[in-house]
Amino acid sequence: MSVDLIMTYGYIGALCLLWTFLCVGSFLNVVIHRLPIMLQNNWAQEARAMLSIEPQENTHGTPFNLAIPRSRCPRCERQIRLWENIPVISWCMLRGKCAGCKNSIPRRYPAVELITAIISMMVISNFGFTTLGLFICILTWMLIAATFIDFDHQLLPDQITYPLLWLGLLANGFLSTTVPLIDAVTGAMVGYLFLWGIYWLFKLITHKEGMGYGDFKLLAALGAWTGWQALPSIILIAAALGLFYGLWQILRGQHTTSQAIAFGPFLAIAGWVTLVFRDTVLGFFLL
Ligand SMILES: [Zn+2]
Repeated sequence: MSVDLIMTYGYIGALCLLWTFLCVGSFLNVVIHRLPIMLQNNWAQEARAMLSIEPQENTHGTPFNLAIPRSRCPRCERQIRLWENIPVISWCMLRGKCAGCKNSIPRRYPAVELITAIISMMVISNFGFTTLGLFICILTWMLIAATFIDFDHQLLPDQITYPLLWLGLLANGFLSTTVPLIDAVTGAMVGYLFLWGIYWLFKLITHKEGMGYGDFKLLAALGAWTGWQALPSIILIAAALGLFYGLWQILRGQHTTSQAIAFGPFLAIAGWVTLVFRDTVLGFFLL
């Protein structure tokens, strides 16, 4: 735990913050798992309605959203009890296994909780427990959800990228502590158009799709937070990360050059690093 945070908020305050962020991480696990299923269900229903096909039987009367139903073990269908749902601690106490069928619970669940807590603590120690600090925490949480969803499904939901864009403009328009609003609006436009241009250039030359519209929207959202000046560094960092990841996957024999890699996670990491460590990152690229 950061020494700054303990100095500022005391041990109890810092522990309360850590606990809150672990719980947010736990909620993000639900979003990462359920949002893609909710979207698939919606699209299937819309497609059926458009084609005048009867809705599927099981879509009647069984709500599925971020709150309902309660979490269950995917193997034995056993409902997860309250004490088994405590961030990180439950996973350690259960030694990573379901209390009913001993099916292993992926390490990713506690990992997402820990990553969320650590990164959120970094944000608060950088920006303080201020309105801007809270806004950047929300950005961080949305980027974590977008990263894992894109990694799993190669999908960046509009339900995340659009609110992120509007929040970025709102933060720069009313908090006026990051970049001027005009730079934020320009950042959103240039961010979208830049990747859109590359997409079409790539498509015209190779007749393949190199990335998705979600990537354009995500870079537009990041541009709205960081301003247009930071876009080159975001793109360069994201491309470098993507390249290293692709090479690493090829070296491990897990990937071929023709397979697509989700670009969203790298954009999200690059955007977050550029926003939080702005002076260092922009200073590095201007040298
Ligand atoms: Zn089970």
